[in-house]
Amino acid sequence: MSSNIGQNYPYTRETEAQRAAAIERAEAAFDGLRDRISSEATPLGTTASDELWWVWACPVDPAVGRLHVAGYARERHGLYAVCDKCGRSFLR
Ligand SMILES: [Zn+2]
Repeated sequence: MSSNIGQNYPYTRETEAQRAAAIERAEAAFDGLRDRISSEATPLGTTASDELWWVWACPVDPAVGRLHVAGYARERHGLYAVCDKCGRSFLR
């Protein structure tokens, strides 16, 4: 991916089902991720099944890592997103 694609630019969008599955996979892949998400983010709550969520390229591994929304950040206004390749979390 070229360097002029900033980390804040969305990469694509995904459905609620795709988002939920991606977070589930990430939580299974990275130890402690589920606990980190629940301590640092609040759940999205009831979401419409046709809701579309942004997906971002991970700033750490932008060629392969994708950030999926895991909840709302507790401390700051924003979305709490988790990388499916490195397990890091970012605010968006
Ligand atoms: Zn990553």
